[in-house]
Amino acid sequence: MEQKMWHRLGPRELVEALGSDAASGLSAAEAARRLAEHGRNELAEGRRTPPIVLFLNQFKDFMVLVLIGATLISGLLGEYMDAAAILAIIVLNGVLGFIQEYRAEQSLRSLKALSAPTARVVRDGTVQDIPAANLVPGDIVILESGDRVPADLRLLEASSLYTEESALTGESVPVEKSARPIDEDGLGTGDLKNIGFMGTMVTRGTGRGIVIRTGMQTEMGKIAHMIEQAEEAETPLQRRLAQLGKVLIAVAIGLTVMVVIAGILHGQPAYDMFLAGVSLAVAAIPEGLPAIVTIALALGVQRMIRRRAIVRKLPSVETLGCATVICSDKTGTLTQNKMTVTRLWTGGRTLEVTGEGYVPRGEVLENGAPADLKRDAALRRLLQVAALCNNARLVRAGEDGQPRRAGRQAEAAEEWIMQGDPTEGALIVLAAKLGVTVSSLEGLYRREKEYPFDSERKRMSVLVSHQGGRIVCTKGAPDLLMEQCAYVLWDGNVVPFTPSLRQKAAEAAEKMAESALRVLGLAYRDLRPQDPTDSEADVEKQLIFVGLAGMIDPPRREVLGAIATCRQAGIKTVMITGDHRLTAEAIASQLGILPRGGRSLDGRQLEAMTDAQLDRVVEDTYVYARVAPEHKLRIVKALQRKGHVVAMTGDGVNDAPAIKSADIGIAMGITGTDVSKEASSLVLSDDNFATIVAAIEEGRGIYENIRKFIRYLLASNVGEILTMFLAMMFALPLPLVPIQILWVNLVTDGLPAMALGVDQPEKDLMRQPPRGSRESIFARRLGWKIISRGLLIGLCTLGAFVLTLRSSGDLQRAQTVAFATLVMAQLIHVFDCRSSRSIFHRNLLENRWLVLAVLSSLALMIPVLYVEPLQAIFKTVPLGFRDWSLVFVAAGIPTFVMGIGSVLGSPGSRKRRRITYGGPRPVSS
Ligand code: ATP
Repeated sequence: MEQKMWHRLGPRELVEALGSDAASGLSAAEAARRLAEHGRNELAEGRRTPPIVLFLNQFKDFMVLVLIGATLISGLLGEYMDAAAILAIIVLNGVLGFIQEYRAEQSLRSLKALSAPTARVVRDGTVQDIPAANLVPGDIVILESGDRVPADLRLLEASSLYTEESALTGESVPVEKSARPIDEDGLGTGDLKNIGFMGTMVTRGTGRGIVIRTGMQTEMGKIAHMIEQAEEAETPLQRRLAQLGKVLIAVAIGLTVMVVIAGILHGQPAYDMFLAGVSLAVAAIPEGLPAIVTIALALGVQRMIRRRAIVRKLPSVETLGCATVICSDKTGTLTQNKMTVTRLWTGGRTLEVTGEGYVPRGEVLENGAPADLKRDAALRRLLQVAALCNNARLVRAGEDGQPRRAGRQAEAAEEWIMQGDPTEGALIVLAAKLGVTVSSLEGLYRREKEYPFDSERKRMSVLVSHQGGRIVCTKGAPDLLMEQCAYVLWDGNVVPFTPSLRQKAAEAAEKMAESALRVLGLAYRDLRPQDPTDSEADVEKQLIFVGLAGMIDPPRREVLGAIATCRQAGIKTVMITGDHRLTAEAIASQLGILPRGGRSLDGRQLEAMTDAQLDRVVEDTYVYARVAPEHKLRIVKALQRKGHVVAMTGDGVNDAPAIKSADIGIAMGITGTDVSKEASSLVLSDDNFATIVAAIEEGRGIYENIRKFIRYLLASNVGEILTMFLAMMFALPLPLVPIQILWVNLVTDGLPAMALGVDQPEKDLMRQPPRGSRESIFARRLGWKIISRGLLIGLCTLGAFVLTLRSSGDLQRAQTVAFATLVMAQLIHVFDCRSSRSIFHRNLLENRWLVLAVLSSLALMIPVLYVEPLQAIFKTVPLGFRDWSLVFVAAGIPTFVMGIGSVLGSPGSRKRRRITYGGPRPVSS
């Protein structure tokens, strides 16, 4: 169909034209057929680097090219064996590098796929969440505030629906959408009010539309290059390491040149020295570092996924380890978001509600006796408002396409499934307990309009018509709702809401809140025919207050432990909630968030404060209640001004700015809107606070692992260079021939370093304070460890070389001993790198990968010493017992001497770092 026509059609014609059904949508089979015909609903992606290019890139490095050149020359000069062996090693190294990089790229790609968007559609008569890429023309899509429009949709229904279309039109003010046909042609994108465009954001309201175009056919597809700049894929650490890499290359080349010059001056043949020098430079440059960092990050991120935290922006992995404050929503993150109404209040009477979960069985008791709904008009009204002003549905398994579990009792909790907002679900269950069900009301009342809930107003209303006229039913936060009420239902009569009656209602609400209940107020109003109903301001006034419903929302079980872990890890937890202050305080105290003497603030107090005043109290404030989303931004900023690294959760559209500004923006995977997810750097797939703590732990672990292999690689390289450098300075013969140098590099660098990248974290990882966000990678004595261990490795290797040379007078034997010592010293040292203290601190066999890597390195080295043809190539001789004794003593010294030293009391090992609970660490530069 001509695409210009869509906006002119009415709903029925549209559905017909697209061969769909407004109520039941497409069938799965038809959707599959259309998917095959139209293709996936995706915008074309940029090109990927083909693997062969990635492989060839391994040889682009300048020093490797020089080495290849040098080898070719030696080949031309007749040294065929040497040249072939060196080339083989270069290729092997390239393969290893390729595997590392390929793996890194694959992991990054699979991470991206995980955060792919979904869409809510009606198919086969049921509402389903499907990957947005599977949408086809004719699909019926449901839109809610915070969704990203998943394809081009012609709207069939729109209720206060606004979308932000700046990506398409440049207009940043949200536009109101409607379902009405537009009888005009030649309209621009911005004027097509009945079309929802792919990629735009729903900022308010709800709607339903039918897909008219997908993928590259959409308006967004036409300008695909404009959207979504590539996510930042490099972390600050990676960037700093890239700079460090350049410095290291310069240093390695500088030292190599000195080695070569010294060698030549002391009478070594120039050609030999040149080849040795180039080999040394290739060995000393930690070319694998960037790939191993990426792998450590990507594998760590995959571990996080297993722990239900999805990282959207790689740099946040690093920031996670620096977090000093977590600001968390309450409902659903700290609590279970499984609400059950347990108490009611109406007209001065308090009623208790029995029953658990979503099973609609229970009683309403007044002073221990069941309430009589027939004679209790106030209670009837309360339940009526609760059920009408509600979008949740309670369904039994087996109905509405839900699977029914066999062999269980009909009333088992899992038989009942609540669809929708749990707060509303609790009210539906309450009403159903007394027989007021949605179906019993459906015949009597017809919903005309909804004024959706938003976290600013903290209430929602519906306009319903019945035989006698129209009524507005409203429910929301009692303190704010009461301001819109002029009357109250008291003893069955509607009377003015006098200050003393208000006082009573407010006290009742506070009492409920103090017992950690979430409290909702309920109100209604009969409308006259002439009353306007355009906006919520028109209807939400002069209301009649009916009563209160208090619901429990138990804390999540694992949260208590997670908060205690945070405290030990020097991370402060702050609760930010839209709920009442007393409810929030009660739950915060239960969870150990609010310490004695800790402050709580509410939205109004926050509003009245200047930034300077907020800065003064922000350190002691643990609970922010009744806040609106924009307050979150102020809280983030205030904490950041105090030097904190802030993790902030959010789920709604309006939370996006705060999530974006936070150092780590966290969105909810289940309840979060697309807008919040896109602003976030971390998504919790289970909406659980404990998952944030798990992610922080992983973040810290990943960073420490990166430090571990940097320490290992650099100390090894220092050792290699020093061995050669000192030998040349003291006018000794070459301690290692070029091919041995390259072999040491191959055997020791790749696998052991990768295995360190997946090392288990040290046990006290979460008992350390967060590291400073600008801390150098070499901080906490890492630089010292690299230099001291590297120096010792160099000295010991050279020592073993000189001793053997002196005692045997056999240069090849001495070189073989030096070769074995250098390899063994590194393979022993790699275990030392696992601990920030000493090798004695950890179980050597704990990291299976490392043990395997070391064994395979040994398996690569031993044949070189004992297989005859290889001996010829590698210029080695078989070592005997005495040689090996020397090798082991020399190779063990760097690790064990330093290890014993630190156990006996070097300042770094004994002094435990001070844990500063809740405070930021001074920023070190
Ligand atoms: P958070 O998730 O940030 O911890 P919250 O979920 O309690 O907080 P909101 O969802 O913004 O915060 O709710 C704030 C208040 O609005 C609630 O305390 C309740 O009184 C009221 N409220 C919540 N949901 C609804 C709803 N569906 N209809 C009417 N009022 C609601």
